[in-house]
Amino acid sequence: MILASYVEEIIAKVQAENPGETEFHNTVKEVLTSIAPVLEKNPKYQQAAILERIVEPERVVMFRVPWTDDAGKVHVNKGYRVQFNSAIGPYKGGLRLHPSVNLSIIKFLGFEQVFKNSLTTLPIGGGKGGSNFDPKGKSDAEIMRFCQSFMTELCRHIGLNTDVPAGDIGVGGREIGYLYGQYKRIRNAYDAGVLTGKGLNYGGSLARTEATGYGLLYFTKLMLADAGLDYKDKTVVISGSGNVATYAIEKAQEFGAKVVACSDSNGYVYDKDGIDLALVKEIKEVRRGRIKEYVDAKPSAEYHEGCKGIWTIPCDIALPCATQQELDLESAKALVANGVKAVGEGANMPSTLDAIEYLQNNNVLFAPAKAANAGGVAVSALEMAQNSMRYSWTFEEVDNKLKNIMADIYENSKRCAKEYGHEGDLLVGCNIAGFLKVADAMLAQGV
Ligand code: GLU
Repeated sequence: MILASYVEEIIAKVQAENPGETEFHNTVKEVLTSIAPVLEKNPKYQQAAILERIVEPERVVMFRVPWTDDAGKVHVNKGYRVQFNSAIGPYKGGLRLHPSVNLSIIKFLGFEQVFKNSLTTLPIGGGKGGSNFDPKGKSDAEIMRFCQSFMTELCRHIGLNTDVPAGDIGVGGREIGYLYGQYKRIRNAYDAGVLTGKGLNYGGSLARTEATGYGLLYFTKLMLADAGLDYKDKTVVISGSGNVATYAIEKAQEFGAKVVACSDSNGYVYDKDGIDLALVKEIKEVRRGRIKEYVDAKPSAEYHEGCKGIWTIPCDIALPCATQQELDLESAKALVANGVKAVGEGANMPSTLDAIEYLQNNNVLFAPAKAANAGGVAVSALEMAQNSMRYSWTFEEVDNKLKNIMADIYENSKRCAKEYGHEGDLLVGCNIAGFLKVADAMLAQGV
């Protein structure tokens, strides 16, 4: 019982020292609670104060991002880069541009990233960054000026062996291009490995765009197979319509599933005939439009305002791929009432803690985010490897490596859950597997 109080003590300390950072508190609570069995078996982690150290970012950078809109008006946004843990490699993690971004959200994402990156089996530490800038409705020139201003400060803190940002919500290929251009301009060096998610003609990796969505499907397919299930002919609901959702839909359809819904931050589309992915890509990637435009082209589909309703659609498998805390207890209850068999998290922390508990108590298979969505950052690390070699692998080579990585993550999570007395609980298993590698590296490297 000394142990339970140690974990509780650290959780309470984090809450007291970081007031108001709810998202960060939640993720710390989730991770620390599930690694308790490891601490019990190995007092060395407590003796070396690993928990105290692991919950404290190595460095937090906060900065001003001034930019000028097309009318000549000057705006100022907040910029962040949280360099959380570099025990196993350079800080690695995306940049998020969204009005909801604040220090708590970036710290929660950075903390998750530490364990997720560890799970990939590749040598990458954890970090995250972003801004409360809202890209919605901005012109291309405004996006470019914002990205240049953001990088003007960020470039002092990153480097191909120090910290390697990438995309996240609001940051795709276009933004990475502008960020990379500015980095190169200031540094006068072609450090391709300083950012990932680059365009294919300047150091990007094949299959990086598809990686998070495909990886989620590879992971959940293994989880389903262990329970004697498959994607074939299953009804699937996928929230979101960004990079993760798009390629999750693509792979789910390839696996023979019928995906009947997707969404954006305004509402969701229900198409009983199955989502027309080419249309979604046209709306989101070419037009940069809203998902409600789907019904203009396909009047037989339904559009509903608001996002939560998507979880009331009867389905076999639900894949939340939009944003954090989008699937709450009420949504979990609706899914269970409609007979859902599995939930796989494509977004970062999309389910609330009480929703996860409800799903697991009702025997729903649950694929936790930091394991199931690790395919994106895994292929980012493969992009870094290709940049170091000044070489590129074929799509098939990268996709095969991704498949193997997702299988390793699945097996490792399953094994750790069993070894520490929580057989079948992939959430506990992935937290333990992710923790062990980082914690052992921290022990080896001293205080
Ligand atoms: N933003 C993605 C994630 O949450 C990818 C990060 C990266 O590629 O560095 O894992």
